[in-house]
Amino acid sequence: MGTMPGRTEFELISRIRRRKPPYSPDVKLGIGDDCALLGTSSGSDLAVTTDMLIEDVDFRRAWMPPAFLGWKSLAVSLSDIAAMGATPTACLLALALPPDLTGRYFDHLIDGFLDACDFWSVPLAGGDMSSSSEVCVTVTAFGTVPKGKAVCRSGARPGDLIAVIGELGLSRRGLQILEEEQPALGEEVSREDLEQWAQTPDRARALRAHLLPRPHVSEAIWIAENDLAHSMIDVSDGLLADLQHILEESGVAAEIETESLTPLQSIVGPPLDLDSVLNGGEDYCLLLTMSAEQYESVRANHASDFPSFFSIGRILQGPPSISVLEGGIRREQQIKGFEHFQ
Ligand code: ADP
Ligand code: MG
Repeated sequence: MGTMPGRTEFELISRIRRRKPPYSPDVKLGIGDDCALLGTSSGSDLAVTTDMLIEDVDFRRAWMPPAFLGWKSLAVSLSDIAAMGATPTACLLALALPPDLTGRYFDHLIDGFLDACDFWSVPLAGGDMSSSSEVCVTVTAFGTVPKGKAVCRSGARPGDLIAVIGELGLSRRGLQILEEEQPALGEEVSREDLEQWAQTPDRARALRAHLLPRPHVSEAIWIAENDLAHSMIDVSDGLLADLQHILEESGVAAEIETESLTPLQSIVGPPLDLDSVLNGGEDYCLLLTMSAEQYESVRANHASDFPSFFSIGRILQGPPSISVLEGGIRREQQIKGFEHFQ
């Protein structure tokens, strides 16, 4: 089949989902969440996820040094493991490269990937190699979560608070810096070189958020272990787009208060524009819905180095839709998250 103008990524996924792949009771959770959950004979379920990073679609080689690409490719998959509240246990790396990049470029990419494996104590257990005209990195990650403890997209309930763990919009700012200034970050660039090129701590933080993201793995495990959320998703496509996934899987509506986003907008340097906070993708924050008691319990009991944690709105009864309250005025929100086929 040729290209299919007009079909979005999510339409394509729901077309696959509607085909109803063969049923097995071992697949406890199939298409539709951050990970699939497979039952095991132990006390835990197995969480599995796979993600691709494709040159010129998900990154530009000119400003994505291979070591950072290696790091980020594991980080984005671990973000999906975290979004279930699972503990990552192993990963697989499938790599396709143009033949002229099998030397130092490849070595740096693997260095960055294995740095991330060390950082999160996740063994690389296998993978695949192929050649292609563009760099393609596909990472499959596995995790375990005690039976009954996985936090799914489908658990949101009317009356829940909507909360965010982490910093929204920073990755978009990092990307904007790269697009505007088009630095020639060569293949050899280190973290230290990046800090130096950034010039200011605020810029360095935004660039790190984009190039070297750190998903909130331990925080998510703590939330799941202690039953502190009804639903959870990682923010990869944008706050509103990912919230919409929770709403669709849970059959509920949501309202967001823009005033509650102000602290997120001013976490670093000049305030981030509202659009970056609502629609900027690749933040790898966690978006949760939780009861008021769960919210207070997180506030009261989280570790001293816990990332920023805010309530930004609430879940309502009704068909999946998001309304935004701005200065007492309510408007229905258009979703503009990242879309592959537009
Ligand atoms: P995420 O942003 O968390 O990686 P996606 O939005 O990519 O999730 O995918 C949403 C859901 O659709 C996930 O459960 C994913 O496993 C599933 N999915 C995506 N692409 C396919 C595909 N080609 N075939 C089957 N399931 C898919
Ligand atoms: Mg996800």
